[in-house]
Amino acid sequence: MSVEIQNAQSAIAKVNLMGLSEEKMVAFFESLGEKRFRATQVLKWIHQMGVIDFDDMSNISKALRARLKDVAEMRLPEVLEQHDSADGTRKFLIKVDGGSAIETVFIPDGERGTLCVSSQIGCSLDCSFCATGKQGFNRDLTAAEIIGQVWIAAKSFGQFGEKRPRIITNVVMMGMGEPLLNFHNVVDSMNLMMHDNCYCISKRRVTLSTSGVVPALDKLGELTDVCLAISLHAPNDELRNELVPINKKYPIAMLLDSAQRYIEGLPDNHRKVTIEYTLIGGVNDRPHHAHELAELLRDVPVKINLIPFNPFSLSDYKRVSNNAMRTFQEILTKAGYIATVRTTRGDDIDAACGQLAGAVNDRTRRAERYRAMSAQVDKLEENLLARTPEEAIKFVAQ
Ligand code: SAH
Ligand code: SF4
Repeated sequence: MSVEIQNAQSAIAKVNLMGLSEEKMVAFFESLGEKRFRATQVLKWIHQMGVIDFDDMSNISKALRARLKDVAEMRLPEVLEQHDSADGTRKFLIKVDGGSAIETVFIPDGERGTLCVSSQIGCSLDCSFCATGKQGFNRDLTAAEIIGQVWIAAKSFGQFGEKRPRIITNVVMMGMGEPLLNFHNVVDSMNLMMHDNCYCISKRRVTLSTSGVVPALDKLGELTDVCLAISLHAPNDELRNELVPINKKYPIAMLLDSAQRYIEGLPDNHRKVTIEYTLIGGVNDRPHHAHELAELLRDVPVKINLIPFNPFSLSDYKRVSNNAMRTFQEILTKAGYIATVRTTRGDDIDAACGQLAGAVNDRTRRAERYRAMSAQVDKLEENLLARTPEEAIKFVAQ
């Protein structure tokens, strides 16, 4: 075999340490015959100090560094563009393997800075009002690509090192994709975000948003304890079937039960589920919808986040009027709910919620998209099976 081919093969087989959870990092070092504490050292270098060159890892011997360079790497997706909006919003356009691009958005709000992270390229769930859904599904992001978005944003704000400023205080899994359909990579990445030796973001400040993949939500509580947001958008199954097609498989009652179980299972079980409700002009924004919603959620500990629909070119839906939004909010408040309105941010850079798909390139027909969704959901059980760290390392090395 020629030297070139051998080199190419060893390059392909390198383990990308970027996305390894603590458990997998330990397994990786043990597979090299090294002690566990090496895993902690490397996790800290990557995610606390922002170092992705083995030569800069000064507490690791030269011999081990050389060995690591042979078998491992720290590979990040490439930033294609960074846009800063007048209101402080920062959007990254990030290239991932295979030529596609994803978006990550940072939204400052006083003391708080929220990073909106993507979990998939496109999405198979095809919600009728969502630009990402209109793109169809391309693929799951790897854990390295998910946590890589946090790394890239943190680096851009100088948020690494001993005296790191706290700019990114919150993370929401509300970018492109359905996080629960990319279960293990999302869980591993969220656990890195919260880890003391990594980004050290409080579990009360990491939120997973889902449109309702119930079996995965049931599993989530076993592995993590982040905050939960449910994309409800309708107060009854008939309307929700239209807006959020996965509702046909997992209807509202099932979803709310699962969300309640998740919240009650948390160690600090006084947390509330955030209910996301995108208000679409004339579709789900009428006062009777608000009353029905208030009735529906009566026994669930929730706070409600109203999101004005963001129009985009492939959608005929209309914006909600200010009046309708105010009335909707008032009905919920009078019924005793905390109901906030999510203000649209970063409009001038196209970073507002739902515009993440940008230029839509895959306009597959709706029936095909429904089949794609069903196929992905059918594979769910297989995807939920836990992998041992060793299997996972083999998997990331592929
Ligand atoms: N797939 C997950 C997370 C990503 S979508 C989910 O659906 O929860 C994040 C949020 O953006 C969801 O609540 C979604 O309903 C909302 N959203 C999508 N398109 C939108 C649009 N055009 N206008 C306003 N909100 C939108
Ligand atoms: Fe997917 Fe969420 Fe968009 Fe629905 S709203 S298509 S689940 S990204």
